[in-house]
Amino acid sequence: MKIVRIETFQIPPRWLFCRIETDDGIVGWGEPVVEGRAEVVRTAVDTLAEYLVGQDPLRIQDHWQVLTKGGFYRGGPVLSSAVAGIDQALWDIAGQAYGAPVHALLGGPVRDSVRVYAWVGGDEPAQVAEEVAAQIEHGFTAVKMNASGRVSPLPGPAEVDDIVQRVATAREVLGPERDVAVDFHGRFTPAGARQVLDGIAPLRPLFAEEPLLPEHGHLLPRLVEGTSVPVATGERLYSRWEFLPVLQAGIAVAQPDLSHAGGISEVHRIASLADTFGVLLAPHCPLGPIALACSLQVAFATPNFLIQEQSRGIHYNRSADLLSYVLDQEPFRFTDGHAHRTTLPGLGVRVDEAAVRKADSSAHRWRNPVWRHDDGSFAEW
Ligand SMILES: [Mg+2]
Repeated sequence: MKIVRIETFQIPPRWLFCRIETDDGIVGWGEPVVEGRAEVVRTAVDTLAEYLVGQDPLRIQDHWQVLTKGGFYRGGPVLSSAVAGIDQALWDIAGQAYGAPVHALLGGPVRDSVRVYAWVGGDEPAQVAEEVAAQIEHGFTAVKMNASGRVSPLPGPAEVDDIVQRVATAREVLGPERDVAVDFHGRFTPAGARQVLDGIAPLRPLFAEEPLLPEHGHLLPRLVEGTSVPVATGERLYSRWEFLPVLQAGIAVAQPDLSHAGGISEVHRIASLADTFGVLLAPHCPLGPIALACSLQVAFATPNFLIQEQSRGIHYNRSADLLSYVLDQEPFRFTDGHAHRTTLPGLGVRVDEAAVRKADSSAHRWRNPVWRHDDGSFAEW
């Protein structure tokens, strides 16, 4: 079997899909994207495709080596995300070629359902109580919310109290049996993050996500030691080598993104590395159905797995949502807050190719918002 064609589709709301076709008719799909830089990743995929066309798609690990290390200059979100989407599509092809779901190729299932959480509150959380109640109504047992919208790097008492109050509201609606996770989004300085962690600690969040920016990783050990709140991070880390220092820092939850951190191959390895530190996996996934399917395939085969993010109804999904480009919604049916294992070959996603091709013709130009403080200076989004 040989790869004959690699195409990309830039589709709303802010996604990029990749389709790899083989000479015996098997087609695999991947989702290589950096949100806000879709065109750049598209070009990276086109460049990597020059090597792959004509190759045997089943040599996934060898291709991963060449694609990540064969260009001398390595790493970074664009290359790692381009490789991630290609890797996903190759696993999809392998599963179809061997007649097995990807989790079977990763060693077989260790669980039959995967706990998923839902987003509440958006980038500027306000209507927390109503949104949490609605997600409970939909059967979810865990939600995630942003700690704050635009916020002072060193928040004052009113800002900290506001954050604590919103998390307390969520906790009140959820009760002690369900969970709330709080995403700091790297919006605080280390000292600001410490204050917020102290404030929310009595509310027992499932985890605090990205309390520090990745570039402040050298301060993570002290932050972790100073709080009882489980610390999660990883959506802006792109390989097992980048995860090693945060695992050594003592985080509780590793959050590689299947579309950023080198795909199924590398996230599977990151999960094993995390296991040596007693750290649980919670793949980041505010993206589309292929990225989610990949996350679920890894979750089904990973013993040290905690919970899965998913984007259904997320605040970014205005022009299209999780199920807009799939022909079969079954793999994404959540009951009692869980996704359930399917045994379809490959990733188990039936992509609506006609809808994808049509959507690509009006390619989105989604960009990260640029926030500013009241004095006009740049603010972290
Ligand atoms: Mg996050």
